[in-house]
Amino acid sequence: MMDADPLANELQQRLRRLPAVDRLLEAARGNPELDGTPPALLTRAAREVVEAERRRILSAAPPDAEPPPIAVFARRLADAVRRLRRPNLRRVVNATGVVIHTNLGRSLLAREALERVREAALHYTNLEYDLERGKRGSRYTAVRDLVCEITGAEDAMVVNNNAGAVLISLETLARGREVVVSRGDLVEIGGSFRIPEVMAKSGARLREVGTTNRTHLRDYEGAIGAETALLLKVHWSNYSIVGFTAQVPLAELVRLGRRHGLPVMEDLGSGTFIDFSRYGLLKEPTVQESVAAGADVVTFSGDKLLGGPQAGIIVGRAELIAAIRKNPLNRALRIDKLTLAALEGTLRLYRDEAQAVREIPTLRQLTQPEDALRPRAEALAQRLASLGDPRLEATVARRSSKAGGGSLPLLDLPSPCVQVRLRGVSARRVETALRRAEPPVIARIEEEAVIFDLRTVLPEDEDPIVAAVARILEEG
Ligand SMILES: *Cc1c(COP(=O)(O)O)cnc(C)c1O
Repeated sequence: MMDADPLANELQQRLRRLPAVDRLLEAARGNPELDGTPPALLTRAAREVVEAERRRILSAAPPDAEPPPIAVFARRLADAVRRLRRPNLRRVVNATGVVIHTNLGRSLLAREALERVREAALHYTNLEYDLERGKRGSRYTAVRDLVCEITGAEDAMVVNNNAGAVLISLETLARGREVVVSRGDLVEIGGSFRIPEVMAKSGARLREVGTTNRTHLRDYEGAIGAETALLLKVHWSNYSIVGFTAQVPLAELVRLGRRHGLPVMEDLGSGTFIDFSRYGLLKEPTVQESVAAGADVVTFSGDKLLGGPQAGIIVGRAELIAAIRKNPLNRALRIDKLTLAALEGTLRLYRDEAQAVREIPTLRQLTQPEDALRPRAEALAQRLASLGDPRLEATVARRSSKAGGGSLPLLDLPSPCVQVRLRGVSARRVETALRRAEPPVIARIEEEAVIFDLRTVLPEDEDPIVAAVARILEEG
């Protein structure tokens, strides 16, 4: 039956004209760029190129696609080898204006933090070795003193990320018992971190109280019983409830906890050591304030507003932190030495707030005034205009950047942006082509224009942006 179908027959003919992998390798042999390429890599690239063409022929309806000449395949093979040789995890230009962009790796490290990583990576370290006593030491010594010094907490430890910090804290303090939480605090952070689900994984039982928009002290009080292990507050890091609302301040919850002999934990999410309202941004509660209000355990991220590596930091009362540290789960959530080194390097900068704001990229970008960004935006627009393509319009427009990373959700940071339109080409197509440039440039689209937000564009990213746009112009 199939043989009788002329269309199917035609398709078979075309597929038979695809080059064999060996023939393609033979055809590519003269290309000096491929000299020294491991044979296994060449074969993989050749297979991928032939397979891609096979899929293209099969998906063309009606099947009108002839395989191209062998020279074209050979060129594609060289492209494929280049692509396969390139690191998978690599630099991109963040022109989105979202400072803590989780998909783009959240925070950039300060140079000082990188120095600490270098040293720890290239040399043996005293990671778990007490140099005074010549015996096994604690992995947390490197950052514990610094975190306590900065936050005023009695004790501190760190794990892999804040999700892990919340999990291990709940598991240690409330497994098999109840945790009282306001319904307004049952948040989803994204990437499947939801308070009720983490609670279930920890083995603690959720005792919801109050309503989404209003929860009172008496709601918490009414839920306390023989099964209660912990009162939990979760910072609304990535959303806001406005209007007819009421929440219980941490200090009041702490007083209630003390009356009933119950610990109070706060998941601060982002966690910041500096008061952003002093820099003209919105107020975000600081870790110091939570500690001062008497929270027994406070958890927060290392790579959100703190501007360090991915980590989960836990601070609080010494006996509770000691119990968390001893939890066998800690072995599974353990922070590695490179992260620890980066965290220590970042924390050291916080001893001097002015220095922290200057040298920690996340803080620098968030606090950078509009006026400091404008000359850079104007220069970049000028460089793009000088490419001399009459279809290209590059202007500076005032738009707003975001903190991102589930931090300061209501914050709009005014930011001078370069706004690009290319006559005859949709903003979506330009955005896609930028994403496929090398290095990839990640931009956003607003009002049918491609936007480069200078707040997150590093000075060394400006040349790649100009090169990527020039390439798009060349290719039509
Ligand atoms: C971001 C966040 C988390 C998860 O932190 P990670 O460091 O991403 O694991 C937990 N709780 C809150 C409130 C958060 O904002």
